[in-house]
Amino acid sequence: METTYLVFAGVFGLLVGSFLNVVIYRLPLDMEWVRSRSACRSCRRLIRWYDNIPVVSWLLLGGRCRNCKERIAFRYPLVELITGGLFALGFITVGAIARDTELTGGGLTSGWWAFGFVYVATFLSALVASTFIDFDHTILPDEITKTGMWLAPFATLVFPWIVLRHFDLDRFGWTGVHARLEGLIGSLIGMLVGAGIVWGVAVVGKLIFRKEAMGFGDVKFMGMIGAVLGPFPVVLVFALGCLFGSFFGIAMFLVTRNRYLAFGPYLALGAVIMLLWGEQTVWIVTDWWPRFVRGLT
Ligand SMILES: [Zn+2]
Repeated sequence: METTYLVFAGVFGLLVGSFLNVVIYRLPLDMEWVRSRSACRSCRRLIRWYDNIPVVSWLLLGGRCRNCKERIAFRYPLVELITGGLFALGFITVGAIARDTELTGGGLTSGWWAFGFVYVATFLSALVASTFIDFDHTILPDEITKTGMWLAPFATLVFPWIVLRHFDLDRFGWTGVHARLEGLIGSLIGMLVGAGIVWGVAVVGKLIFRKEAMGFGDVKFMGMIGAVLGPFPVVLVFALGCLFGSFFGIAMFLVTRNRYLAFGPYLALGAVIMLLWGEQTVWIVTDWWPRFVRGLT
């Protein structure tokens, strides 16, 4: 039964990914991005519904427009596949949270499951859209980051378990009012910590290098991520973002000689890892790594 839902989650992700392609293209250009229908970027002809089926249509059309035969970038089905995969993984994470609450005597009803999945899916969608907009325009739009900073604390009040996973909750139990309040406080502190780290690094970086190292978009982006994940995971998100950013940044510099690096995609990757595999990452940092270092000395 759970496998059926998992497939549904993945297919739903493919459809949302198709919508995200529109958001990624239109949002930074201030275009009407909800109502107007999609058209081929080359011949301007409206795309018919049967040519707009995620991944499938792209494959059937051989990656070309039906009308003008102009190439349609591989990125469109790629964004759909990424979103579909992330939604399936997000569903598994919500399932793991439900099992955790069951272990401590709470247990989540299907309504909570549904809300948790919608919440996780919305967060993952925001990360995917931000990633590709930042790649294209090196901006992280307020429509995503500020909206996320407003919504996440409220969503955490309703579904506190994403933040609470990294707390010791035996005192309060998993489902009581205390748990929700502690989740809300965790979300607000997480927002301050996330935004604060990037802001602090930006200020220090400006003093040392006399150059803008990180934009204010990154500050709000990390505020949103911190509000969803909580204060401790968001620190690891920043660490992972720096790790991936420097790795890919050096690689890209060697290829393109471009010194400017959009930081958002690497923070987003860190956020995905901490959302889906937070406990394993924490274990590597607190358990495996110290033992590994001790083994070396
Ligand atoms: Zn065309």
